[in-house]
Amino acid sequence: MGRLFLIDLEGDYYSCKHCQTPLALAQHLISRPPGFHWIFSEVVNVSFGEREEDLMVLEGLPSTRMDAFCVKCESKVGWKFESDHVEAPGYRFNLERSKILEPGEDPNMPPPPPQDA
Ligand SMILES: [Zn+2]
Repeated sequence: MGRLFLIDLEGDYYSCKHCQTPLALAQHLISRPPGFHWIFSEVVNVSFGEREEDLMVLEGLPSTRMDAFCVKCESKVGWKFESDHVEAPGYRFNLERSKILEPGEDPNMPPPPPQDA
């Protein structure tokens, strides 16, 4: 492991609940489906675990999944989904609602109750 570089984000961003490291810009939020995971197009300051096949799909096509970890405190914050299918290559990131703070959210406040999916 080399020196740890953290990327600072300008503007509103979502951050790690444990160490407040910036993880994703608010403008990169794709959607907030009801439930526990929010979907982003880009994230920063995360490292990825083993690539594994996943039964979930990206845009209706098979994809692989990698766990995503905060680079600073190493807590798991979500997953990366990736598809190299020729018709819809791409990727997206799911961050766990319970592991991140919204822009301006107080880290000392308890998380909101989970919503029914
Ligand atoms: Zn962290």
